[in-house]
Amino acid sequence: MSAETLTFQAEVAKLLDIVVNALYSQREIFLRELISNASDACDKLRYAALTEPALIAGDADLRITLRLDKDAKTLTIADNGIGMDRDDLINNLGTIARSGTAEFLKGLGGDARKDVSQIGQFGVGFYSAFMVASQVEVHTRKAGGEHGWCWSSDGKGGFTITEDADAPRGARIVLHLKDDAAEFLDVWRLRQVVKTYSDHIGLPVVLLGGEDGTGADETLNQASALWTRSRSEVTEEQYKEFYHHVGHAYDDPWLTVHYRAEGAIEYTGLLFIPTQKPFDLFQPDRKQHVKLYVNRVFITDDCDGLLPPYLRFVRGVVDSADLPLNVSREMLQHNPVLAKIKTGLVKRILSDLKKKAEDTDAYAAFWGTFGAVLKEGLYEDFERRDDLLALARFHSTHGDGLVSLEDYVSRMKDGQDAIYFITGESVAALRKSPQLEGYLAKGVEVLLLTDPIDEFWTGHGLRWKEKAFESVAQGAAKLDAIKAEEQAETPEQAPADQTDALIALLKGTLGERVKDVRVSSRLTASACCLVADEGQMSIHLERLLRQHQG
Ligand code: ADP
Ligand code: MG
Repeated sequence: MSAETLTFQAEVAKLLDIVVNALYSQREIFLRELISNASDACDKLRYAALTEPALIAGDADLRITLRLDKDAKTLTIADNGIGMDRDDLINNLGTIARSGTAEFLKGLGGDARKDVSQIGQFGVGFYSAFMVASQVEVHTRKAGGEHGWCWSSDGKGGFTITEDADAPRGARIVLHLKDDAAEFLDVWRLRQVVKTYSDHIGLPVVLLGGEDGTGADETLNQASALWTRSRSEVTEEQYKEFYHHVGHAYDDPWLTVHYRAEGAIEYTGLLFIPTQKPFDLFQPDRKQHVKLYVNRVFITDDCDGLLPPYLRFVRGVVDSADLPLNVSREMLQHNPVLAKIKTGLVKRILSDLKKKAEDTDAYAAFWGTFGAVLKEGLYEDFERRDDLLALARFHSTHGDGLVSLEDYVSRMKDGQDAIYFITGESVAALRKSPQLEGYLAKGVEVLLLTDPIDEFWTGHGLRWKEKAFESVAQGAAKLDAIKAEEQAETPEQAPADQTDALIALLKGTLGERVKDVRVSSRLTASACCLVADEGQMSIHLERLLRQHQG
């Protein structure tokens, strides 16, 4: 069969243009991306072989190899993983714009001099090969496939696909290095890059034939899954690189949780909370992202039974020997062992968060990033409600910082039996609400809630330490029972007959547009304010929903 020439989809071509011209200081990350793909490919094969052992038979020692050829100026990265067939090559390497490509380009703003080191986050890591190579060949055969293929490209607009009858199972990526990328023909440099970025990979990364291709093989990484090592053996740097690999993220982990659960059900968890928001945090599927392994065999990264949606920002792996190896992804949905692991994970994450909350500033940063997501748990996870309320932080009329409910309750006034809040678009705007006046005059603190999610959980009858949450913009103000602060002046009351006449006039004028007009103790300086009726949708929620409908 002759070579077939195809063109890159427009977005990919644009991406390549940026990658090729990227800042040179970051070029070494191409190796991280290709090794990461090779490792993923081996994970996929191991999983597929659980149900179809023939796929792996004859070549069951999965590994990643590097080979140098100084004369030809090539660096070859090969694996004996799942491989690709012709359709896979076309779909994965060149024509289909996955949503990540657009996000990545948007982040760069079309500026080639910006940071491309985050490329892997957007599912386009493969293309980083073109930072160092003028020509890239992928020789590959899919496990179980009849014959192999060769994909080849100079990264400038298109690629060719030809049959490659001899290609063994897996993928062999040959990089024809650019003249100015000769440093990657240096063993010392390869050792350093692999050690830095890929030491945590569970499979051996072997340099075949050493420096000149004829010497002894050399394994460049530790080749044991990072989570199986004990905490004292793992450095911060290694945790970080593993997080980058497993989380497809390139910030620093804000929190690392590594532990082994022992007892009725045993498992190891190595979990990370990112510093920055992942770009897909608010996608409607609310998918969780922790990878599940059974006895070091990768099973899935798409298992909703592992963590609840309100912890979807967590990254990492969970490995248990107590799940059957042949567990299918479908079976996992109702697996009782998995349900117990999930309970354990949630408990552990929340209790570690509680510890971190003692560091007020660091915790405020976390809360600003993920608080709105965690709050979804307030109405979704009945059992963890109190833990979640204890972890929640709010803006309030008490100072500029964030407050906890613990703080709030300790400041409650004599006669106050509820936790007051108001919802709206911004803290600054809420601080000016007329609905707050009566409360402020009596020194009663009010929480200022600005996340859309706040409309939902506050309407669920939750209580904290027996105290209900009550909106100051809803129903009648119950301020009479609360003792005023000494210095607060009680506003002068107009004679009853005058207010009655005013109310009659207002009702007559506003007619159908209002349900009622009442005298209220919630105002001190303003003449009037809008409130929603008890048990009705809040005014802010009504506005949100109207915006949503466009
Ligand atoms: P990502 O790894 O985030 O999916 P990449 O651009 O790194 O994005 O890779 C794109 C896709 O190409 C992978 O999802 C995979 O399907 C395929 N691929 C890349 N390298 C290999 C390989 N060594 N073996 C098999 N498939 C591969
Ligand atoms: Mg990749």
